[in-house]
Parts: sequence; C-alpha cells; structure tokens
Amino acid sequence: MLEQKLIDENIKNIIQNIDKAAKKSGRSLEDITLIAVSKTVDVESMKYIYQKGFNNFGENRVQELTKKFTQFDDKVNWHFIGHLQRNKVKYIVDKVKLIHSVDSIRLLKEINLQAKKIGRQIPVLVQVNVAKEESKFGIKTNEIKDFMREAVNYSNIIIKGFMMIAPYEEDPEKVRPFFMELREIYDKIKKKERHNIKMQYLSMGMTNDYTVAIEEGSNMIRIGTGIFGKRMYS
Ligand SMILES: *Cc1c(COP(=O)(O)O)cnc(C)c1O
Repeated sequence: MLEQKLIDENIKNIIQNIDKAAKKSGRSLEDITLIAVSKTVDVESMKYIYQKGFNNFGENRVQELTKKFTQFDDKVNWHFIGHLQRNKVKYIVDKVKLIHSVDSIRLLKEINLQAKKIGRQIPVLVQVNVAKEESKFGIKTNEIKDFMREAVNYSNIIIKGFMMIAPYEEDPEKVRPFFMELREIYDKIKKKERHNIKMQYLSMGMTNDYTVAIEEGSNMIRIGTGIFGKRMYS
C-alpha cells in the first residue's frame, strides 16, 4: 500500500491543474475524464482512490487487468492503454470500457470478431503516432483517412476517438504542436461521423504533459506517476 497522504496531495494538485487548464480552453473540470493509470500499482492503493470516487483505471497488460478485474465491482471502468496482441483480445473484450490502443486493421478485425461472439459493440480509440517515433506504436497521421474508411466495415466496434502518447520532453511546451495536430484531425473527422465512428474522446496527456494536452483540447488524460508516485517494477 502506497502512502495515503501522498496520494491525497497528488490528487488534489492534479484536480486543481485540470480545472485550470480546462478553463483556459473554455471548458470545466467535469469535461475531462481522469484515468488513473494503475499498472504495477497494488490493489489496496487502487481501492483507496476508488472509494474516493475515482473509478477509471488504465492498465497496459492483459494479465494484470484480468487479475485486478476480479477484485473490484462493476462500477469500475477499465481502460486498456497498452499494445494489444491479437491473441489476447478475447480475455479482455468482455471487461473493458474502452480500448485506447488500436493500432492496426488486423487488431480492429480481431476485436470486432470477439465482440461479435459476445454480442457487443466495443468502443475503441485509434492510437496515433503523431510524432512518428520509431519506438512507439500507432498509425501515422497520413494513414488515418484510409483507416477510418476501412473501419466502417466492422460494426461490432465503434470508434470513439484517438489516443496519442507524446514524446517525452522535460519541457511539455515542446510537444504542444503534436497535441494541436491531432486535435485538428479529430475535429475534421468528427464532422463526418458514420454509423460506427462517433468521435467523443481525445485521449492525450500523461503526468508530464497533461495540462498542455488539456489546453489543446484533450478530454481524457491518463495519469500514473502523478497520482501513485514512481512505479515499482518487481
Ligand atoms: C504508463 C502510461 C501512462 C501513464 O504515464 P505517467 O507518466 O506515469 O503518467 C499513460 N499512458 C500510457 C499509454 C501508459 O503506458
């Protein structure tokens, strides 16, 4: 169990920062969904913030998510935020609120197939590698159009928006243009919605850069270390 006082302080700061950044962009705190990224974090610490009203958790490993899933009630929204292998889709498709990390048509196809089996339509985000980093997953911005055109064929998924991970920069101002770029594309796609493309979430911003991301239009931020402190990998 992590130190509760520290978590309390962290959360208080983050909420204040979200509020300020949201107002700067003409919105309010309630417009921003805060996902607590709980990878490597123990269940007790997660329960501590859950009882304070935070019920969105982000995990990047299938096994960790399915294990933790059994220890919470169904009011928790589980977000899958990591690279997803096709052979593991079946383990999480009935558990997740939103899959943030769809980075190929092949993966989309598999999610569609598994969703069909359980008679659901699964909400997903398309991960976009805006900065074209070799080390990161996600489709390139110039591939988005074709991706969306193909996606309309899979009616057991619904595309709800985009997710991006900005390059790490000590000064988050340096990544502002990437957030801006994705926001512009998001707005364009939003104008021509289809039966299974309903743009609603722009998942961008992590501990280091979430205020800038919100200022540029993000409405879903994924915070790990900012809430729980430095991750301990066992
Ligand atoms: C780990 C992770 C986060 C959270 O990162 P922090 O810097 O700890 O806030 C957000 N998004 C994704 C996709 C992650 O893997």
